[in-house]
Amino acid sequence: MKIHNFNPGPAVLPPEALRLAQEEWSDFAGTGMSVMEVSHRSPACQELFTETEQLLRQLLGVPDGYHVLFLQGGASLQFGMVPMNFLGEGKSADYILTGSWSQKALKEARIVGEARVAATTEEDNFRRLPKPAEIKLDPGAAYVHITSNNTIVGTQHHYWPETGEIPLIADMSSDILGRQFDVSKFGLVYAGAQKNLGPAGVTTVIIRDDMLERCPDGLPSMLDYRTHAKAGSLYNTPPVWCVYMMRNVLLWLKSIGGLREIEQRNRAKARLVYRCVDRYPKMFIGHAEPGSRSVMNITFRLPTEELEQAFLEKAKTEGLIGLKGHRSVGGCRASLYSALPLESAQVLAAFMEEFATSHG
Ligand SMILES: *Cc1c(COP(=O)(O)O)cnc(C)c1O
Repeated sequence: MKIHNFNPGPAVLPPEALRLAQEEWSDFAGTGMSVMEVSHRSPACQELFTETEQLLRQLLGVPDGYHVLFLQGGASLQFGMVPMNFLGEGKSADYILTGSWSQKALKEARIVGEARVAATTEEDNFRRLPKPAEIKLDPGAAYVHITSNNTIVGTQHHYWPETGEIPLIADMSSDILGRQFDVSKFGLVYAGAQKNLGPAGVTTVIIRDDMLERCPDGLPSMLDYRTHAKAGSLYNTPPVWCVYMMRNVLLWLKSIGGLREIEQRNRAKARLVYRCVDRYPKMFIGHAEPGSRSVMNITFRLPTEELEQAFLEKAKTEGLIGLKGHRSVGGCRASLYSALPLESAQVLAAFMEEFATSHG
């Protein structure tokens, strides 16, 4: 049976990326060894890191004056590393709360130092993003932290808060490379790879050079961004396999036409599924307010738990995998990351339509 993988992360990978890995499985770049067996100090591995970084820079249009880093520990380690590097004594950071990932980021920041809530939509169950006028920034904030796409509740920032001179920092784990955006608006962007970039195990950090100058002395080396910037992400043994798979994903993305093309495709996929939500509102109760909807994660409930269960079980028998919502909010969630083919969204939309008409 053909599988349509709507998993929220780890998530679907492009078949082209997997096929290339299969071809190079036991002979990476003419070394006669698999990529997992080569030394991270070897020229082949250095080239792999350079190539991956260049692909990422090209695809995202990263301007000069930024470092691109490949780290470990997931986005969750960045929740702590960001404040450790930028939230020293006497400073305070601003957090915009739009879901449980931003709440987690705030919690970690408060372990390290002072952090304020500059805006939150928790009283609306995070169904929407705050409007620009609802964001109350501290003009002296060390940075402003946002979550660009809220993987669990299914909302997405469709504008970037104006922060003036205050560096804007974004957790883009679930929508990086899913759409075009202007990197120069950000002081730092981070993303765990396992949604849109590759397998779990590597975290991409894009950091503006002046941010590196703010890092304090005295941090353990591994937690200091400067360590990794100086060493080209090869300070200690890096997750070579994960970077390799990311390279394969980026090669695929480049081959189909980059972000402009993938943004169109992602929009087309989301439109198909939201159309079902809008057409059968008694069967599929969308969680996100229309103006805040995510293109990557579509969240909805059915009117009863029994129907929800029936929907998920029937979906599984037709090869539609990973549609159960996050355990913290329940319901259903369709993750339509970049590597998910249009066909899978079409199959899901047809399935939803059929389910709504036969159970309505
Ligand atoms: C998945 C996710 C995380 C957690 O990532 P880990 O790599 O598991 O630490 C954090 N933020 C967002 C927005 C996510 O989607």
